Amino acid sequence: MNDTQILHINETCIDEALLTQAAEAITQNKTVILPTETVYGLGANALNSEAVNKIFIAKGRPQDNPLIVHISNMNMLEKCVKEIPEKALSLMHVFWPGPLTLILEKSNLIPSNVSAGLNTVGVRMPDHPIALRLIERANTPIAAPSANRSGRPSPTTAQHVISDMQGRVDVIIAADHSRIGLESTVLDMTQKPPMILRPGGVTLSQLQSVIPEIIIDPQIHQSVDSPRSPGMKYTHYAPQAEMLMVRGEHAEVIKKITHLMDEHKHIKTAIICADEHLQDYQGQHCLSLGSLANPAFMASQLFTVLRQCDELNLDYVITEAFVEEEMGLALMNRLKKAVGYKILDV
Ligand code: AMP
Ligand code: MG
Repeated sequence: MNDTQILHINETCIDEALLTQAAEAITQNKTVILPTETVYGLGANALNSEAVNKIFIAKGRPQDNPLIVHISNMNMLEKCVKEIPEKALSLMHVFWPGPLTLILEKSNLIPSNVSAGLNTVGVRMPDHPIALRLIERANTPIAAPSANRSGRPSPTTAQHVISDMQGRVDVIIAADHSRIGLESTVLDMTQKPPMILRPGGVTLSQLQSVIPEIIIDPQIHQSVDSPRSPGMKYTHYAPQAEMLMVRGEHAEVIKKITHLMDEHKHIKTAIICADEHLQDYQGQHCLSLGSLANPAFMASQLFTVLRQCDELNLDYVITEAFVEEEMGLALMNRLKKAVGYKILDV
């Protein structure tokens, strides 16, 4: 058990003394949970293998799942990678700081546990004042996967982090709700054409506006045993409840969900849906992600709603399906994992 220090830092008025304390913990090879614009990250000095190992222990993360390295300036990037291809540079100019992780060939300074033995490394520059200042002050790249216990939904609030990680890390920086609320887009620049391994905060069409040939890994739509991105094979985000997605024409979806809810009325159930459909499930317990008119907001609420399923001790949860475009693609990618790819087409 660690004696976890919780530092409350306000992103619009950063307390320098507290930030220095967190930065010192990083330079002493301790673990620090930091807010980013995607989700909270569990960080440690990316250039020290013992520090990195503490991340795997705190999360209970399998060793074959590589970590994303967070940087605050281009000098740090040069330390982490062998070379910066022209196309990667043009993407960095447009999307950094921001929710885009680029897979590049790694340098020898990156310990092999960061990259899980691969010769590549995922790097990004977060768009969050606390994260950027922390990395800058510690003056070292920070390896940071999402700060959840392995298998749990990624944390998007300080409360999520404290409930998963108090006693397991040295420092928690408690700040606001993560603005985007889903993890970064992972784009593999070592493949031709470059391939999206995980959809996230930067969408396919945004990326294609800079590099038209970028494609999406066809594997992201299914459950596979040996994906190109090792992390994609693990069950993620799954609440304790039995989960199911019902997909199809809306009138049929309503009928099917209502019928299934009737069949399960002896146990605790809920429906994950959009605001516009709340009226279609009267008498049922609904957890709304928000309005269909604002897919980015719906995406930002997903992990909070998945955590609510556990807080409410639900036994059986059915979710609607949403349009798989733009942020909807990332939302559906996480939601399909949460239901363990159990999808009923009606
Ligand atoms: P997390 O940090 O929890 O958001 O997970 C990081 C994601 O990026 C996982 O899905 C990893 O498998 C993926 N990733 C990180 N580094 C690499 C890499 N070098 N090659 C392929 N995927 C990677
Ligand atoms: Mg994660």
